Amino acid sequence: MSNTETPAKAERWTAQWKELYEEVINSGLCTGCAGCVVACPHDVIGYKHEEGEYKPFHLEEDLGLTNCGHGEKGCTSCTRACPRFREWEPQADTHLFGKIREPEQMYGQYQQLLLCRASDDTVHKIGQDGGFVSAMLIWLFEHDYIDGALASFLDGDGSNWKAVPGIAHNKEEILASAGSRYTYSANTLAFKQAEEEGLKRLAFVGMGCQTSVPPVMWARKIGKVSKPFLFNIGLLCSKTFDDAIFEELFWAKYGLKKEEMAKMNIKGAFQIWMKDGSFHEIDLKECHKWTREGCKTCPDFAAEHADISTGGIGEDNDWTLCVVRTDLGREVMDRMIQSGAIIARPAETDEKAMKLLRLLSITSRRRWPEFANRAPAVGVPPPKPKAPPAPAPAAT
Ligand SMILES: Cc1cc2nc3c(=O)[nH]c(=O)nc-3n(C[C@H](O)[C@H](O)[C@H](O)COP(=O)(O)OP(=O)(O)OC[C@H]3O[C@@H](n4cnc5c(N)ncnc54)[C@H](O)[C@@H]3O)c2cc1C
Ligand code: SF4
Ligand code: SF4
Repeated sequence: MSNTETPAKAERWTAQWKELYEEVINSGLCTGCAGCVVACPHDVIGYKHEEGEYKPFHLEEDLGLTNCGHGEKGCTSCTRACPRFREWEPQADTHLFGKIREPEQMYGQYQQLLLCRASDDTVHKIGQDGGFVSAMLIWLFEHDYIDGALASFLDGDGSNWKAVPGIAHNKEEILASAGSRYTYSANTLAFKQAEEEGLKRLAFVGMGCQTSVPPVMWARKIGKVSKPFLFNIGLLCSKTFDDAIFEELFWAKYGLKKEEMAKMNIKGAFQIWMKDGSFHEIDLKECHKWTREGCKTCPDFAAEHADISTGGIGEDNDWTLCVVRTDLGREVMDRMIQSGAIIARPAETDEKAMKLLRLLSITSRRRWPEFANRAPAVGVPPPKPKAPPAPAPAAT
């Protein structure tokens, strides 16, 4: 730039609910992450955390449900919080890492790949994989980094397997929230309660659709609402299922009552352990019909904007694969290893896990629709052409 030129002014951000509705909700990009709901300073965005729902909607009807009176007067908070609105991926990337991902970085930018497990046997046993997420939350509490963790719990006594967002305030509540549920839990929603309780230093556990919320809020300078989010712990994720799968498939076809289920996991198949000790595997292709609407266009398998993303695709079931992404994630990881809170080993040697991480990330990115901002699709290799059918045997 010559010294007579003035730097280009950043464009003023004017997009409000009207644009959010048209470009994200009505277009099928909305994941139901509830970022817009908790960001709205006027509390005019509603959300039903229920079977077949998990989508935001406007509560005021004065301008119809597709426009917002506060937006018309200049409020832009909902679009500043939405991790599917326009250039969300490059904006969050640049804010967190100072650069956008390279085209070949299918599972996002990172510093370290580790396989980890909690040193404490109880935490390890209760955790879904290595219990790393719970061990990290406990460690953050014990070292006075946080005063609350937004996580997912089971409603009531847990027998209906209804996942609900909530806050863990101590070790006991962290252990109560451990393990994975494969229906949706918009943990972001627990933020309102955290505000009411006056909690100011939060860890946030969620799938990629949710853990991109704080980074896009920071990048788009939303202000106060983004400040309490300190640690972002991501969960690798290909999809969640609608709650109806329990009645319509597991019970109706396989006679598996949700009240009798003890644990579930997804490892190539939907695995269910029953309280009577029996174990069942259901083909994922069969479950496909119950994929939650909000997951169908999601390009982010690897929770690419978390401080540390975690998954269960390691060779051994009882270790958590950790993708350490930010400096903050690295600092906590190093300190946890030094203090003996977790056991860690390099993950690159687990070839199967590395291959799966890349493949599943590519599969998710391929779902991102053509009409949307192209960034998440950059570098994604096209699917291999199907082999032509074998020629019919010559007639004799
Ligand atoms: C819906 C879903 C899909 C997943 N898909 C994959 C996958 O395809 N491949 C893969 O490798 N890993 C996947 N994971 C991640 C994996 O199941 C483990 O959560 C991860 O490895 C961490 O294990 P851990 O033992 O360290 O966690 P834990 O110590 O058991 O802690 C798990 C944390 O996840 C939270 N949580 C549980 N269920 C939900 C939910 N439904 N929504 C939001 N938060 C929740 C809990 O509150 C807890 O804080 C998925 C997780 C979820 C929730
Ligand atoms: S993706 Fe999230 S923030 Fe965006 S409209 Fe949907 S619920 Fe709101
Ligand atoms: S696939 Fe997972 S990360 Fe993507 S929208 Fe669904 S729940 Fe969120």
